[in-house]
Amino acid sequence: MDLRHKLEILADAAKYDASCASSGTETRDSRDKKGMGSTDAGMGICHSYAPDGRCISLLKILLTNACNYDCLYCVNRASSNVQRARFTVEEAVKLTLDFYRRNYIEGLFLSSGIIKSPNYTMEQVVRVAKSLREDHHFRGYIHLKTIPEADDELIAEAGKYADRLSINIEVPTEPSLAKLAPEKDVRAIRRTMARLRFRLDKAKDNKNNKRAPRFAPAGQSTQMIVGADTSNDQTILETSANLYGSYNLRRVYYSAFSPIPDASRALPLQAPPLVREHRLYQADWLLRFYGFNIDEITDPLENGMLPLDIDPKLAWALRHRDRFPLDVNSASREDLLRVPGFGVKAVNRILSARRVTSIRAADLARLHVPRAKALPFIVLADHRPSASQIDSKRLIQMFRPPVQQLGFAF
Ligand code: SF4
Repeated sequence: MDLRHKLEILADAAKYDASCASSGTETRDSRDKKGMGSTDAGMGICHSYAPDGRCISLLKILLTNACNYDCLYCVNRASSNVQRARFTVEEAVKLTLDFYRRNYIEGLFLSSGIIKSPNYTMEQVVRVAKSLREDHHFRGYIHLKTIPEADDELIAEAGKYADRLSINIEVPTEPSLAKLAPEKDVRAIRRTMARLRFRLDKAKDNKNNKRAPRFAPAGQSTQMIVGADTSNDQTILETSANLYGSYNLRRVYYSAFSPIPDASRALPLQAPPLVREHRLYQADWLLRFYGFNIDEITDPLENGMLPLDIDPKLAWALRHRDRFPLDVNSASREDLLRVPGFGVKAVNRILSARRVTSIRAADLARLHVPRAKALPFIVLADHRPSASQIDSKRLIQMFRPPVQQLGFAF
């Protein structure tokens, strides 16, 4: 099988993994004419996303789509009737370098089906990264998938060459994992996340010691498949909060389940709406950076699901209208962060500006603070929404996307 054909198979097989954003690593470049590649924002990693929302800035491949395991939701599972392929280590290295030279990519995202044994697979994955770094002085971004049962030495080596390591938690609950991926062990997954955290914390403590071993400066992340089981958004967010807290993850990626050919009856026939994935990302952000807790974001009246038609912060504000309107010129930072449409940067700009002036509606535009969503919820020096507006049942209609009439195919 020629390399191009392998690439078609192994890039396609990797597309279901959403955890490939490339932020937060150390700065490296090759302006000293040594090495190749860069993680510098100017010419290095760019964040581009396919129309379905997945990151495409990295060469994203599997080393092989053959796998001993039979995870029901996975197109590469042992019982799947798909064509198999495998890159040699040298082929994966060559492809990465060729793509980089042509300016197609800024880095590599490498995962693999599990062949022979977890250690053998992890060793192959590490060899690609090692060759890129040591033989070719590649300075671009490398994200490696970690095989949970692999030995500690291999994990340490992976962290030496990779910017980011990730282990997929796969599904939100232990019973779902037992049902959908019986060969996987949630305890092994969590144990390895803990091992990574230990090494990451150690590397952080030693960051000023140039002789200390390097370990994955962009940290660890995970991916959770959404909609392959019946877990509601509240359960998904609880699992995420637990993972962030326990293992100091940089990101939890949410990947909407994609129906696969010849799927098991244990799986749903339809993919969840892609917007569910988007709402989970918004909720995840609210939990980490906006001071919300899970019970505030999900609505028990909606069976613990996030609304799909409006964002979770707006939905919270509409359920808590008694807390508005909020005076932008005197409210606390915590309260301002709860105003629909106000992001962290916007709030910081407001706090700086109001030290020297009383903020008016036109000032928000000058500060690049989005106003449309916020105005019904805030008081400014020259703006106060009427009590009837904030209490109006029609307020939500202002924010709902317009209903689109279905077209006919003629
Ligand atoms: S371990 Fe499971 S999820 Fe990973 S490639 Fe194999 S079958 Fe797919």
